[in-house]
Amino acid sequence: MITGITGQDGSYLCEHLLEKGYTVHGIVRRSSTLDRPRLQVQYSNPDVYGKRLFLHYADLSDTTSIRRIITQIQPIEFYHLAGQSHVGLSFEIPESTCDLTAMGTLRIMEILRDQPNRPKFLHASSREIFGTPTVVPQDETTPQNPNSPYGCAKAFATQMVKVYRESHGLFFCNAICYNHESPRRAENFVTRKITLAAARIKLGLQEYLTLGSIDSARDWGYAKEYAEAMWRILQHDQPDDYVLATGTSYTVRDFLQAAFDHVGLNWLDHVQFDKRFIRPADAESLLGDPRKAERVLGWKAQTHMHDLVRIMVDYDMHRLAQGNN
Ligand code: NAP
Repeated sequence: MITGITGQDGSYLCEHLLEKGYTVHGIVRRSSTLDRPRLQVQYSNPDVYGKRLFLHYADLSDTTSIRRIITQIQPIEFYHLAGQSHVGLSFEIPESTCDLTAMGTLRIMEILRDQPNRPKFLHASSREIFGTPTVVPQDETTPQNPNSPYGCAKAFATQMVKVYRESHGLFFCNAICYNHESPRRAENFVTRKITLAAARIKLGLQEYLTLGSIDSARDWGYAKEYAEAMWRILQHDQPDDYVLATGTSYTVRDFLQAAFDHVGLNWLDHVQFDKRFIRPADAESLLGDPRKAERVLGWKAQTHMHDLVRIMVDYDMHRLAQGNN
């Protein structure tokens, strides 16, 4: 079972599990449109949808429905990926961010604790639990010190996963994820905003790209690989927490340059700045230490920033060339 199956990571994880022969149950919330672009291929395949892939309506705030679905399906593995995933936006909507991300995770864990056969559980945690860390790189032992509502909510959920594992003996794990991107990243995240703008400017569909700070450094990986790592975490014989990262860090400026270089443009000619895009608090440099995941799970990020940029820009160029603006 996957919460957040319609999201970037959930859709990659769904594909991965289907390829492995799983039957996948996804929890989706009701919206005004039935469009689920990231699941379109599976959704429109009659051999998959309704046979090995099932979607169930529930909201993270709706405990009764989630309990009913879990009790009925009795999942063996539970991947909890749903949440308000935008750090910047969490300053504007802190209450719902904390309710869904912190309490929403706790509510699910309580339901799972009540099940006769308790499934293995993976929580998609975040490097935001470290806030502005004094230790570089950060690993599983780095103290939590979040500096955003999103980070506080993830820190609570991450610690509760540990409490449930240690106090109730449950197979509950945290994937402490550093930024991971893909062509499926939502367009209000800086990486996708950049790759889309580079493609649009190249094709004459846009003139300028407006950004906030470009000096922050991030550890950027490829979402598809992180979804596979989440699966590996639940296949190990012991429950534990793992940092998922590339172990390399680049600034937004580097990402920008790589994206515009890839389409043969100079970013300096096309970027303008606006203070409104700067976050109230933002870590300047983030770098994960993924050595435990490599040592224990045999997982290592293969795609680093420059390859990631190429994948994303090529996708956006192709999509725009087909007339999808
Ligand atoms: P995403 O693309 O924003 O997907 C979020 C998913 O959560 C969507 O399926 C969304 O459904 C669902 N959701 C949001 N609120 C919900 C609610 N109230 N009830 C039910 N479902 C709800 O995020 P992502 O990039 O795939 O990230 C997956 C998880 O990893 C998130 O928890 C995120 O915080 C965490 N994480 C991500 C990164 C990263 O770099 N991507 C890094 C660290 C941690 P709709 O489609 O209906 O909106």
